This record gives sequence, C-alpha cells and structure tokens, in this order.
Amino acid sequence: MPAALPYQDPTLPIAERVADLVGRMTLPEKVGQLLQLNAKDGVRPLVEDMHVGSILHASPENMREATELAARTRLGIPLLVAEDCIHGHSFFHGATIYPSQLGMASSWDADLIERVARATAVEVSATGIHWTFSPVLCIARELRWGRVDETFGEDPFLIGELASAMVRGYQGDGLDDPTAILATAKHFAGYSETQGGRDASEADISHRKLRSWFLPPFERVAREGCRTFMLGYQSTDGVPITVNDWLLNDVLRGEWGYTGMLVTDWDNVGRMVWEQHIYADHTLAAAAAVQAGNDMIMTTPQFFEGAQDAVARGLVDEARIDAAVARVLAVKFELGLFEDPRLPDPERQALVIASAEHEALNLETARRSLVLLRNDGTLPLAGGLVADASGRAQDASDGRARRIAVVGPNADDPHVTLGDWAGASGQTDWLPDGHPREMIHTVLDGFRAHAPEGWDITYAQGAEIIRLIPDPRGEFFPDGQPRPDIAAPIEPDPAMIAQAVAAAKDADYVVAVVGDRIELVGEYRSTATLDLLGGQVALLDALAATGTPMVVVVLASKPLVLPASALAAEAVIWAANPGMQGGRAIAELALGLVEPSGRLPISFALHVGQQPTYYNQIRGQHGDRYADLTQDPAFVFGEGLSYTTVEYSDLQVLTPHLDATGTVRAEVTLRNTGTRPSRETVQVYVSDTVTSVTWADKELKTYRQVDVAPGETVHVEVELPVSACTLVDRHGERVVEPGRFELLVGRSSRDADLLRAAFTVAAPDEITV
Ligand code: BGC
Repeated sequence: MPAALPYQDPTLPIAERVADLVGRMTLPEKVGQLLQLNAKDGVRPLVEDMHVGSILHASPENMREATELAARTRLGIPLLVAEDCIHGHSFFHGATIYPSQLGMASSWDADLIERVARATAVEVSATGIHWTFSPVLCIARELRWGRVDETFGEDPFLIGELASAMVRGYQGDGLDDPTAILATAKHFAGYSETQGGRDASEADISHRKLRSWFLPPFERVAREGCRTFMLGYQSTDGVPITVNDWLLNDVLRGEWGYTGMLVTDWDNVGRMVWEQHIYADHTLAAAAAVQAGNDMIMTTPQFFEGAQDAVARGLVDEARIDAAVARVLAVKFELGLFEDPRLPDPERQALVIASAEHEALNLETARRSLVLLRNDGTLPLAGGLVADASGRAQDASDGRARRIAVVGPNADDPHVTLGDWAGASGQTDWLPDGHPREMIHTVLDGFRAHAPEGWDITYAQGAEIIRLIPDPRGEFFPDGQPRPDIAAPIEPDPAMIAQAVAAAKDADYVVAVVGDRIELVGEYRSTATLDLLGGQVALLDALAATGTPMVVVVLASKPLVLPASALAAEAVIWAANPGMQGGRAIAELALGLVEPSGRLPISFALHVGQQPTYYNQIRGQHGDRYADLTQDPAFVFGEGLSYTTVEYSDLQVLTPHLDATGTVRAEVTLRNTGTRPSRETVQVYVSDTVTSVTWADKELKTYRQVDVAPGETVHVEVELPVSACTLVDRHGERVVEPGRFELLVGRSSRDADLLRAAFTVAAPDEITV
C-alpha cells in the first residue's frame, strides 16, 4: 500500500489536511472547487473539465454518475451534493413532505421543528445529498412577495427561535454523524425587503434597519454553528449583495466570527454582468465576487474561465482563491467525505424514506400548523374527542348523520396541499407527476376518511383559479432559467357555482376550500393583489347566500385578503400548504378530533393596500388609519383560536426594579373556562416607553406553550433577561436604555389581548447597593 498523502490521512487535523490539499491543486482545480453547477444537463463535463466542487439539482442517476466520476479524478476530491430539501426531501420520489416553512412556523414549536429537520436529514442523508438550502431567515413583511411561504413569518425573535431549531435538526450532533446534513441560513440579508414585493430587486434598507430586525436571526445561527450561509439576490445602496463587503466581511466574518462557507444565490455572479450591469464581463465579476469573500459560486459556469483570467491579469490575488477553496474543503473534511463520500444507500432508504415514524411526525406537524381564525361555535362539527379504531370521529352530538358539502378549487388538489418546492413544483425535472397521489391527503380525502360513520360527504369544485398563458417574450430568461407562464384569473363559471350551491343547500355544513395555487407562488411569482383569484369570491358569496353554515378553509401559501362573505363565515381556518397529511389534519380539526393550537406567525391584511401589516411597526404617524380604511389587519400576528376560552389575568411583575444584568420575572394566571383543552401560546412582548430613537411600540421577546385542561387554572412563570430588552441606537449599537418598560403578556399581539405591567431598568449610576 502506498503511504497516504497527508490530506488523505484522517488522523491529521483538518487544517493540515486542507493546507496539504490546496498546495497540490492547480489553478483550474481550485477555481472549479468553488463552482456549484446544475447537474441537469449532464455531469461529465462539469466534473472532468471544470473540476466542480459541488452539484445541485441532481437526479438520482446524475448523482451516481457524478460521484463516481469525482472519485476517479486526479486528487479524488469528493463532490458536495446539494438540494433544496426545505420542507422534507422535496424532490425525492415518495419522501415525507411536511407543511411549508410558514406552516411549520404557525406551530410556534421549536422542538417540533427541530424534530422535523432531524427526520428530514435522516431521509436526505440516505440519498447521497449532503447539504440542504434551508432554512429561510428572511422576514416576511410584504405579503405580495412570492416567497412568503418559505419564511417563518414576520417576527425576528420567532424566526431566530425556529431557525436555530431547524439548523440543529439538520446538522444533528455534529457533521461527522452520517445522518447530519449541512444547513444553510438564507438569504443573507434583506432579500425580502425588496420594493413592492418584486422579487430580487432593490432592497432599500439601511445598516441600522438591518441591525434592528433583519440581522439578529442570522447572527444567532452564525454564532450557533450553522455551517453555510447563502446570499440573496437584492442590491442595497447600489451594491449587489454578492459584493457587499460590509455585510460579508465586516459583519458576518468579522463581528460574528463566522468560519463557515458562503454560497452565492443562483447565478449571482453572472447577474452582476447581464442583469445589474455593474461589471462589463465575467472576469471582472468573478474577481469582485472572490475579493468580497464568496466561497461557492452557484450556477455561473463563466466563473471558471473568468476567475482564472482574473488571476492571470492580477485582478485577484490567488491567495483569496486559496482561502475560499480552504473553506469549501474544510466543510468536506468535517463531513468526513474523503473517508466516506456518503453515497446513496438503498438499504437505509428503504428504512427511512416515508417511514411510519416520519408519517406520524408529519401528521403531528400538520395538525399543529393549522390556525383557527374564526369560529362562532359551529366547529367542531362532530364534537367527538376521540377517533374510533378506523380513525373516524365519533359522533358525540345527537347521533344524527350529517351531510357535509366539501367544495372549492383547493378541496382536492394535491399540489397546493404540498405547496412550492415539492414534487412537480418546477425547480427540478425528474418528478413530472410529483409525489405519489396516494401519499397526499387532500381535504376531501380527509373528510371521506375521518367523518363519523354514516355521514355523507359530497364534493363540487365550484370554481377555478387561474389559467397559464405562455409569456410572449419567450420560454427562458437570459441565464437559461425558465420564464414562468403568466397567470390569468379564470372568470367565475355559473354552472360550477350552481353545482356547488346545490351541494351546499343539500348539506348541513359546507366546507369551502379556497386559496392560491403553486403557479402563484415562488420566485418570479410575486402577486400584485392578495385576492382570492378566479371564481372564488363569487363562489363564496353564493355559498354564503345559501344560509348553510360555512367553514372556509384558506389553503394558501400565504395570508390572502378574504372577502366579506368569508370573514363573516361561521368558521375560518388557515392551512398554509400543510403537506402530505394536511387534508387529514384539516378534517380532524374541523370534526373535533384534534384541538386547534396554531398561532399566526404573520398578519393577514384586510386589503392589499394596507401593506405592510406587520405588528412591530415604528411609533410615530399622523393618525392611525387611512381616510378610506383602517390600518388594522384582518388577523394579527400571534392570533389563533382554540375550541375553548382561556382567560388571562393577574399579570404580576415580581421584579419591578432591575439593572441591566437582571432578569425580569413575572407571573400570569390562565384559566380554561370551557370544556375542551387548549395549548396556549403565552406571548410576551416588551414595550420600551421612552426611546432615544423611534422604535417599535412592542416586540415579541419570548413565549411559552402551556397545556390548560378544561376548568384548570395554571400559573405561568415568565422570565426575560433585561439584556433582551434592547434597541438599536442612532449609532447602530444594540443597547438597553435604562428607564420604564412595560411587559405585555397575552394570547396575541393585539393590544386588547395583552395584559400590561411595568418594570424599570436603572442606569448604572442609579444603582444603590
Ligand atoms: C433560490 C434559492 C435556492 C436556489 C437553488 C435560488 O433561485 O433563491 O433559495 O436555494 O435557487 O435552488
């Protein structure tokens, strides 16, 4: 046996192995190592001619070929295989698909989300993929943006909690665990703040605003060890994020001490040439991207020649390339890929893909993702608390069999049940028919399977939403990305509506399942309105006019604007792309087999013109409404009902006087005055009453989830370090400003739902011993 070269010796420290390997690489090999290319059009040239370090969107066949080819290259450097596995293993046939990230956020349950990410990593790691581009830490303040569904909603604290949990779940106990995958904190930073929700345009956002709201969740996961960060697409102050030296170097790598890998977004380097026009050619763009500290260049094949040319022309120092290569290789060594390239493992796949355990976790998550927004007591329909042996609700009412008309364009649509980034949603091409239909429970499936024995379930589609028209400007953008079709609303169809109305008239209840479609969601697909498109409003109006009690299920990627007929319906449930078990969970909730416990991680606007409607807006405005409309959202951040009433009372701050090192301790009493249990999300906001800069009137600082049984009284203790009661001052520093604060505790961010109690934080010179 020839002696192993130092980089091949697993007993040596990673830094030594990296240094040895970088020293053996030619410039083309180094530049190639920084490239992540799309495996779609064949992998041989990518591996053999361009020496790529990573591939994405590889079908199982392409992946096998690419990894075999990489093993036979001169230095045998393993490939990093990446995919968007963002709510489950999105594009692996028959894998478990969970609710969208926004749906998961409605659970407000970090532990649950960590378990989902762990289960996802277990499935993903068995299939040869090492790296998922998840989670998204963008703050969703503009509902027209097409990617709201991929976020954890509008609040920086909640985003930080849930993102941290998700990263822990993906990366497990350490990257050397074969079931760990690399997590990605994306999209760094401010991508969601583009104007008018127009995807990937200019984000007009100051350093101070970034530090106040947008950076904290990223800082948290950077410090906690998230190993990769992905940039967004936006430019700010004239600087594309790809070359934003302040964010990438001063903040991320400097202040936060981040040592992980930085990946661009799709063709960001090319975009600086053909889209943003800030460099004349790819040599200049490649040089700038390397100088700014990017490590992995996603899908800009021209980078290969460009970066080499830049070195030859002295535009970039080869040492900068070496540093980036070192960061890429370090991650590969941390994953142990040189010892075990973690190829697809069919035996492990048979055990873990869509295992019964993951299916149960998915059902739990889907149930927890649903938010009951309105209920006049019509729900639960069956009243039964338990399922019989076949999972059907037991009819605990008068025993009379009921008829439920399940209607609406989203009542039986498997794609919208899963949402974007799953199966046939369009980002990959090897699952043209999506995930197996029988794995997906639509709302109609759910009612048919779980309504009490003898109940009659009828169905009518009632309306269509949009039709797709090819964009006359051509099928592709200049970078080869497919140009989405144009979504044209379909006029209400009187015959379809009449059929649904007849079904509703003939039923005891009508469940109207409305919302959006995956063609109205995602990149390039922001919407100008938030309306229920097509025939949906006419359908709801007609159904409301029948007088049959109506349960509106908004099965939609993001908060939409609901018409008066929906807002006045007997009940409204929001299901944000609830995943494979979604329809079952919705039926169970409506029937009363499970308790509603979801809370809104994002506000619902009453009208699109109210944008933005996030709760933590800056104080100071003439008045508090538009001349023609209130500014109040239809449903606010934190809102969500259960099937009982829980009274909050007796908020007491036990530590009314503190210094900046102290911990606020408080107690609040919850009393369940109804007959059903509730999982309460006790939300704790802080209001800093006088601030040196204009600041939000209240901010979520912590929360606790507490089960309260019928009739039970629970005393909930709240603890909050004063160090969390910060603002960002005019110099961009995050500080606690001494003075009077209010602690606001309650069931939602709505003022009327919050109890208030004061505490004061003393300035250092006011402290008496
Ligand atoms: C998206 C990223 C995604 C990447 C790879 C980009 O267009 O913005 O979120 O991870 O594509 O699919």
